Amino acid sequence: SAVPLGGSVIPLVNKLQDIFAQLGSQSTIELPQVAVVGSQSSGKSSVLEALVGRDFLPRGNDICTRRPLVLQLLQTKTDEEYGEFLHLPGKRFYDFSEIRREIQAQTDKEAGGNKGVSDKQIRLKIFSPHVLDITLVDLPGITKVPVGEQPADIEARIRTMIMSYIKQPSCLILAVTPANSDLANSDALQIAGIADPDGYRTIGIITKLDIMDRGTDARNLLLGKVIPLRLGYVGVVNRSQEDIMFNRSIKDALVAEEKFFRSRPVYNGLADRCGVPQLAKKLNQILVQHIKAILPGLKSRISSALVSVAKEHASYGEITESKASFSSMVEGKNEEMSTSELSGGARIHYIFQSI
Ligand code: GDP
Ligand code: MG
Repeated sequence: SAVPLGGSVIPLVNKLQDIFAQLGSQSTIELPQVAVVGSQSSGKSSVLEALVGRDFLPRGNDICTRRPLVLQLLQTKTDEEYGEFLHLPGKRFYDFSEIRREIQAQTDKEAGGNKGVSDKQIRLKIFSPHVLDITLVDLPGITKVPVGEQPADIEARIRTMIMSYIKQPSCLILAVTPANSDLANSDALQIAGIADPDGYRTIGIITKLDIMDRGTDARNLLLGKVIPLRLGYVGVVNRSQEDIMFNRSIKDALVAEEKFFRSRPVYNGLADRCGVPQLAKKLNQILVQHIKAILPGLKSRISSALVSVAKEHASYGEITESKASFSSMVEGKNEEMSTSELSGGARIHYIFQSI
């Protein structure tokens, strides 16, 4: 079920992101995104899937995520749920296992069939009444030893790729560490600490609470007593490899997660740090705060981008103008322009007027 949005700022930011992607300007203006980082098989893709509430990401006990996946969630008012890829405009995927197959096919196409990794993005939109309006980025996990077709410097390459996302001051970082490994050895917290040393935009996520060593629990981790984090930790229980093999649904998994926390007295009193629904809620609150805080800076950067777009337009302005008057002569009337017909710069301006 969806967590209500704290404000209507996020959909506008999503629109802006779309426009910049279409304009091909990726790095001039950094807009807020949420990226998952961590070691391979720490549960990053599982966490994202649980947040979306649908099964559509390649997951497993091996390297599955081999290209960055930029996932834009869009809340719809209707009951329709579907995905659409940027590389297949207009094609709606209603079958989510088909989305997974398309991600796998696109991964193999760009990164080869043998564990290769590529930094070329796959961009996917998910339209659903059950999601929050946010953009999530699934990234390959950190590995140390090259396997398959991977080059000798695979670790450095993956780290550089991850850094290119999380170094953006507007990127929220979900740092994923499995509960069955030592937090002091966490690749996630290590790389997040480089990108965000003061911890203003890092949320700690502890996965696999269900498979900790007998006699141990994550209470102190979740309380921040082991490694403190300004934005705190959320503990989750995702589906195991066996659950994946037996096609256990996300819905069942969420029920099981709830039962897990309820039946363990050690997690009493930590309800706000336990479970995927809490993570969604926390994420949403932080994101709205974050966007509100960076809006003024974003606005001024967009204004300067507008100036350069306007200058560029001015250099071939006469041609465009004569074309426009020619077509209005032919049509015999001036149709009102819709947003989609406006040029990039004008659309950005139009959208920012409404913030
Ligand atoms: P990623 O490489 O970080 O994206 O990790 P995946 O999401 O692909 O998960 C790796 C493996 O760990 C899969 O087999 C998952 O089923 C399993 N897994 C992930 N989270 C949990 C969890 O909370 N509990 C258990 N038991 N298994 C998990
Ligand atoms: Mg993954």
